[in-house]
Amino acid sequence: MPADNIFLKIIRKEIPAKVVYEDDQCLAFHDVGPKAPVHVLIIPKKVIPTHADITEEDAPLIGHLHVVAAKLAAQLGLTDGYRLVINSGPHGGQTVPHLHIHLMGGRHFTWPPG
Ligand code: AMP
Repeated sequence: MPADNIFLKIIRKEIPAKVVYEDDQCLAFHDVGPKAPVHVLIIPKKVIPTHADITEEDAPLIGHLHVVAAKLAAQLGLTDGYRLVINSGPHGGQTVPHLHIHLMGGRHFTWPPG
């Protein structure tokens, strides 16, 4: 059994989150420490610790997360664009060991990232 973590607790409604979208496959909620005017996290309900743990059978789920991201970006008014980020593992800067897509917008982002 994988180690528990804060996002699994949010999925189980054991701790609160500002949820903006939920269905049988995923949950989306505002990041508690926003790095942009809009900063939402989209997470699968399936336990997938990191991007590196994605397998072929997860392809429809991962695609669904991106469809949800695009719909949320439109709903949240990000008509000038947005940035999606997936941090994976220590070098990727991942701090919560449950796969998540950062959807950020409302300001201009630079490249390369830090
Ligand atoms: P990462 O560093 O890519 O693993 O991203 C984890 C993100 O989760 C960070 O942007 C945190 O601000 C965010 N975060 C941590 N705890 C919570 C929480 N309880 N509710 C919402 N966002 C959280």
